[in-house]
Amino acid sequence: MTADAVRQLTEAIERMPLVDHHVHGMLPDPSDAELVDALTQAEHAASPADVFDSAQGFALRRHCAPLLGLEPFASPDDYLAARRALGSDEVARRLLRASGIAAHLVDDGHRPDLLMADERMARLADAPTHRVARLETIAETVLAQCASGSEFVERLGPALEAAEGDSVAFKTVAAHRCGLVLDPARPTDVDVRSAADAWFDEWRAHAASARPRLTDPTLTRHLIWWALEHGAVLQVHAGFGDADLVLEQANPARMQALVAATAGTGGRIAFLHCHPYVREAGWLAHVFPHVFLDVGLAVGVLGANADSVVRESLDLAPFSRVLFSTDAWGVPERVLLGARLWRIAAARVLGGYVTAHDWPADEALRVAEGIAWRNAERLYRRRFVTA
Ligand SMILES: [Zn+2]
Repeated sequence: MTADAVRQLTEAIERMPLVDHHVHGMLPDPSDAELVDALTQAEHAASPADVFDSAQGFALRRHCAPLLGLEPFASPDDYLAARRALGSDEVARRLLRASGIAAHLVDDGHRPDLLMADERMARLADAPTHRVARLETIAETVLAQCASGSEFVERLGPALEAAEGDSVAFKTVAAHRCGLVLDPARPTDVDVRSAADAWFDEWRAHAASARPRLTDPTLTRHLIWWALEHGAVLQVHAGFGDADLVLEQANPARMQALVAATAGTGGRIAFLHCHPYVREAGWLAHVFPHVFLDVGLAVGVLGANADSVVRESLDLAPFSRVLFSTDAWGVPERVLLGARLWRIAAARVLGGYVTAHDWPADEALRVAEGIAWRNAERLYRRRFVTA
């Protein structure tokens, strides 16, 4: 009986719709080298061997190759040749649709100039996209149009309000810029003005022709407080990423004081990715009711080891505050792997609770559905999945 129940649970998890609550756009026509680069967080040009001879590389050959008409575990060379023969649009269409993702919440912040328009991604995926607005990008865009720090302060509020109207959430990459150890106090107007003057002067003095880059912790806190006091969802990058973050400064527990200080704002915080600090993020969700988390990015990269992060995400966090994401950037392989590997890991972890701990299978299914899409609909207060 239990074996039947677990089989049914696995099949249901295999078929259920997913809401990818944090993903990036796709490259319109990636070359072999761009595909390899998009599969790693490494900054230097990665060697194909580093990428294919890894947990993610094995998963790619296992799960993506058959969707391109190849045998599972086709060689990397055969995979790249099949990809070129089919063309980028057809590959994207096959992989994005096979993911079973019903809606994508797209962060526009990372190298948007290289990526296809959301409408094209939505058409290829046959699934709608919704926008996530990056706080640092909004501030940088405003500063680049201003003639003084005080003009920046004046124009920032309306720019944030406009972005709020166009998007389902804000995101911060504070982990990459100043680290997550942030003074919890809401900056005063005087603090904001003097930080804005200093940022403007520095940009003008050193690199007025280059795009401004926000690293100032006072302005970062101001943006975070603004978003949360407006009742928005704030996605916070936490855990590993590319080499421009200091990993220990990306531990979500470092942000504990600010998380505690913003508990009464009505805003909600979603820690993204979190690996290797999934337990810390789970504890924050356990003690603060406005905290959510996902383990996207890691799931797609960990391949056969993805069970470990899915299991850790269920350690301390209330199940209603765990979310699904792929954090894919640039190539549809990452979308497909994020979805496939999550389904496999969730079925194994929750199926294990049914066999080893007597969980009712229908309740394990309810937990899986929550992570897959229902929790995202509750968090973002909108319907993403159409019946
Ligand atoms: Zn991301």
